[in-house]
Amino acid sequence: MRLFDTYTRGLFELPPPPGPIRMYFCGPTVYQRIHIGNARPFVLSMWLKRWLEESGYDVRLAENITDINDKIYLAAPGHSAELAAEASRWYVDDTDLLGLGRPDHEPKATETVPEIVDLIGRLVDRGLAYPAGGDVYFRVAAFPEYGRLSGREGDHEALHNPSEEAEREELKEDPRDFALWKAHKEGEDTVWESPWGPGRPGWHIECSAMAEKFLGPVFEIHGGGIDLIFPHHENELAQSRGAGSEFARMWMHNGLLELTGEKMSKSLGNIVSLREAVQEWGREAILLFFMNSAWRKPIDFSDEVMAQASAQAETFRNYFVGLDSEPGEIDRDSLARVLDDDFNTAGALALFHDWRARGQTASLRWGLELFGLGDLAQAVSAPDGLVALAEKRQEARASRDFDEADRLRGEIEGQGWEVRDVADGFELVPK
Ligand SMILES: [Zn+2]
Repeated sequence: MRLFDTYTRGLFELPPPPGPIRMYFCGPTVYQRIHIGNARPFVLSMWLKRWLEESGYDVRLAENITDINDKIYLAAPGHSAELAAEASRWYVDDTDLLGLGRPDHEPKATETVPEIVDLIGRLVDRGLAYPAGGDVYFRVAAFPEYGRLSGREGDHEALHNPSEEAEREELKEDPRDFALWKAHKEGEDTVWESPWGPGRPGWHIECSAMAEKFLGPVFEIHGGGIDLIFPHHENELAQSRGAGSEFARMWMHNGLLELTGEKMSKSLGNIVSLREAVQEWGREAILLFFMNSAWRKPIDFSDEVMAQASAQAETFRNYFVGLDSEPGEIDRDSLARVLDDDFNTAGALALFHDWRARGQTASLRWGLELFGLGDLAQAVSAPDGLVALAEKRQEARASRDFDEADRLRGEIEGQGWEVRDVADGFELVPK
């Protein structure tokens, strides 16, 4: 199997099964509900894990939760820890809606501080980091490989480290340096002890320590959004290799979500949360939307493309109505041809439509299940009691009694079904 590697700008050949394949994907910084764009690396990593396991690999996936960060302090002055804990639960609940399972490890920065402090100590001992004013900075000049991942090598200007977090520029030996440890500041409600004084870790070192803690000093795949290449991943790589670990053998960076051509970000205010999107279009349409594009390319999110994704979900669902589950040949080779070639999920989706058109039911059911779309392959209808609840909910909505409508939705969900609003009423789908 081959995957495009950011570091070499070429295809990386995975070792033959069973590997192992150890993967680390950067997860969210938790201070609000995640938006649908944040779901893309989660979906990609879970699909890849499922396919590699299907292919006979021994896979271990770690996906972190960043629960120490300036954004969290700013979002909840004086009670950042409570907000981070709550938003971590939101993240797990919301990604659970996708029905893809969970990574093997979901470490939190707050649970990894001893390993982080240890790693910073190793860098200081090797002359790759220096304490200054209660902070500790990485000494970029001592790591000649710096900039290779992002292709900014040698370009001093482009390697200045205005990280997303505020840093004290006057303490740095070189504007390219970045903080590993930050002295405690007034107003920050969480603080840890370290040999350099009380404070808390910088963002980049958290991932280096968590990857090593759960995957060891070398692992096969490091993933995340393309916006993380610089400085976040450049810094992770410098820290870990600087400390003597081989670190990731290849890097995969997914394209970002764009909202009618504009990059989707929280600051623009054009946010659709993952939870809202699932409620609006259903999980299958969301998954088909991601499946329909190349993971490295930007992906355009609009009502129009979501309507197309919903229509595709219906096409598959309708195919299975009244169809008995019969055993049949599974055409694994055809799917392997597209997925082993840089994980071409759009090619897989085209193949599924082809299988549908040719009546290859067993292959189609198997393929859909692999991508978490097994519900589309079920020819079941909801029991009468649930239909009555869904009708009552519709009446409540019509009379604008949204509390009652939400209560009824909860009751339906409690019985393992999901109610969706569609143009001519509602639809009941097994969860
Ligand atoms: Zn990271």
